[in-house]
Amino acid sequence: MEKISVVVSCYNEEKSIPLFYEEMENVISKDFSDIDVCFEYIFINDGSKDKTLEAIKKLRKKDERVRYISFSRNFGKEAAMLAGLEAATGDYITLMDADLQDPPKLLREMYNWIVENNYDCVATRRVSRKGEPPIRSFFSRIFYKLINKVTDFEMVDGARDYRLMTKQVKDAVISMKEYNRFSKGLTSFVGFDTKWIEYENVERVAGETKWSFWKLFKYALEGITAFSTAPLALSSILGLFFTLVSAILILFIIIKTLVYGDPTSRMAFNGMYNGVYGWNSTSFTWNYRAIFV
Ligand code: UDP
Ligand code: MG
Repeated sequence: MEKISVVVSCYNEEKSIPLFYEEMENVISKDFSDIDVCFEYIFINDGSKDKTLEAIKKLRKKDERVRYISFSRNFGKEAAMLAGLEAATGDYITLMDADLQDPPKLLREMYNWIVENNYDCVATRRVSRKGEPPIRSFFSRIFYKLINKVTDFEMVDGARDYRLMTKQVKDAVISMKEYNRFSKGLTSFVGFDTKWIEYENVERVAGETKWSFWKLFKYALEGITAFSTAPLALSSILGLFFTLVSAILILFIIIKTLVYGDPTSRMAFNGMYNGVYGWNSTSFTWNYRAIFV
C-alpha cells in the first residue's frame, strides 16, 4: 500500500495541533476513503516554549501513525522541515504548517495531479494575502521581484512551503546540504515537473505568527545570497570603484602638495596648541619643538 507522509513543523502550536489533526483525519476519512493509501504524521517540535510537545505526545498515545522529533532548541522552520523530510518514509511527502493555513482539503487534488497526470511535485500558491499586515505583503512583493531579477530560475510570488512531492523529489531536496536553507528556492532549483495550484489565503486557526519582520528580512537575505551571485558581484564592483576613487584622490593630493606645498599643516599645529595650552604661538618652529622636544 502506498504511503503519504505528512510533515508538520511546530513552534508554539499547542492550540493548533489538535485542530490540525482533527481536520487531517476528516480529510483522510472523507477524501481518501476510495483509494488504498495510508498516512503517517511526522511532527517536529522546533524547541517550543509552550505545551506543543505534550500535545504531540498525546496524539502519539492514541495514534501509532504519529511520529515526532523534538529539537533541543528553536532551530527555525527550515531545519524542522529538513529533519521531517529526512525522517519521512512515505512514497509521497507533504510539508504543512500546523496552523491550518495550508488547507488539508487540497491534498486529494494534489495527490491526483501526481498519480493521474504524472507530475513529480504539486506546489501551492496563495493568490490573495487577505488578513496579512499590508507592510508584510509590500515587502514580500519587493522580495519576489528582486529575487526573480537576480536568479536564473523562477521563484513564484505567494509560493507556500505546502507541497506534495514524490520520494524522488524529496531525496533530491535533502541531498542539498545547504546550511542556511531556503526551501522555496531549493525545490525550484532541483527541477522536476511541478504543478502549481492556487488558493485564497486562510487565516491561522489559533495562536499567532512566529515570523517577526526582522526574522523574515534575514530569511529573505538568505534566499537571495543562497541563489544568486549578484550580492558578490555588487560588492566586487563597489570595491573596485572605491579603490579607483581613492587612487585618484591620492594622486591628486600628492600632485597638489608638490605644486602648492601644504599650507594646512602649520595652521593645524597652531590651532591645536592654541586650543590645548592657550599659547598664542606665532611660528611653526615653535610648535614643532613643543611637540617633539
Ligand atoms: N515554525 C517553526 N519554527 C519557527 C517558526 C515557525 O517550526 O521558528 C512553524 C510554525 O509552527 C508553523 C509554520 O512554521 O507551523 C509557519 O509559521 P507561521 O504560521 O508562524 O508563519 P506564517 O504563516 O505567519 O508565515
Ligand atoms: Mg501560519
